[in-house]
Amino acid sequence: QSDPQDGNIDAENRSNPAYSLAGQAFVTLATTDSYCMGATVVGKSLRRHGTTRSIAVMVTPNVSEQSRLALENVFDEVITVDVMDSEDRLHLSLLGRPELGVTFTKIHCWTLTQYSKCVFLDADTLVLCNVDELFERDELSAAPDPGWPDCFNSGVFVFRPSLRTHASILDHALRHGSFDGGDQGLLNSFFSSWPLEDISKHLSFVYNLSGSSFYSYLPAFQQFGHNAKIVHFLGAMKPWSSGGQKGDSHSHIMERFVSLWWKEYLSHSTSSSPPGEQFGQDSEKA
Ligand code: UDP
Ligand code: MN
Repeated sequence: QSDPQDGNIDAENRSNPAYSLAGQAFVTLATTDSYCMGATVVGKSLRRHGTTRSIAVMVTPNVSEQSRLALENVFDEVITVDVMDSEDRLHLSLLGRPELGVTFTKIHCWTLTQYSKCVFLDADTLVLCNVDELFERDELSAAPDPGWPDCFNSGVFVFRPSLRTHASILDHALRHGSFDGGDQGLLNSFFSSWPLEDISKHLSFVYNLSGSSFYSYLPAFQQFGHNAKIVHFLGAMKPWSSGGQKGDSHSHIMERFVSLWWKEYLSHSTSSSPPGEQFGQDSEKA
């Protein structure tokens, strides 16, 4: 039972906490069967840690029936999105920029107006504890990117679905493109006030912890890595890709995260874990 005074509820929804919880969702995206493996783990790990919010996944029509069924077992909503259907102007521009297809599919999350507020999670993330407190943040909240900390990393972000915002972002994309060819460049140039305007929109790095910090700042990784709340397996090697991150990771912390990913992927139960099985207190070590 939510206490309307506990700060968990948005001001406009304080009078109706039940509506507020139902109107909020974690959202992920998978356009291929392998990214569906990742999305499954995102959903299962959110469930394991007892989220009170809805969980939704956007898929493209090409994903197999089998992958879709697996997602339907975990998610409240499996939403088929076909970016080519949305706008003729967009269609035309995509013909010349096929690499922007996945980017525009991610931007589609702003059309999920059945929800008032959402947290987007890349399909290559793993949730390690309950992170429902992210819904206390407003659009656009995200953690710094390890490669250029004045940019946010677009693997984890808080947003408000809105058709108007969606149209503005698409318009921005068609006018200015994306400086990195992907959604992160586009979103950073659209939400350009992020680095300086409002510190409450800066999420702690532990909500989007990537292995690259192991290489760039090892002592900090060793000091704070165990506080991780969401791990992001960014880069070309995903936990599910052949060869995996297992062999080429030099960090035993990252190795633990990869084996935790597999444990979650292979688990049959999506029920909440007893507290002792939370990451960090788990005595089992592969
Ligand atoms: N994605 C997808 N299919 C693809 C590539 C990306 O569904 O072929 C989605 C997926 O949710 C993924 C996100 O877009 O997590 C961003 O891509 P990725 O995580 O591979 O980028 P990185 O975080 O490594 O920069
Ligand atoms: Mn990612």
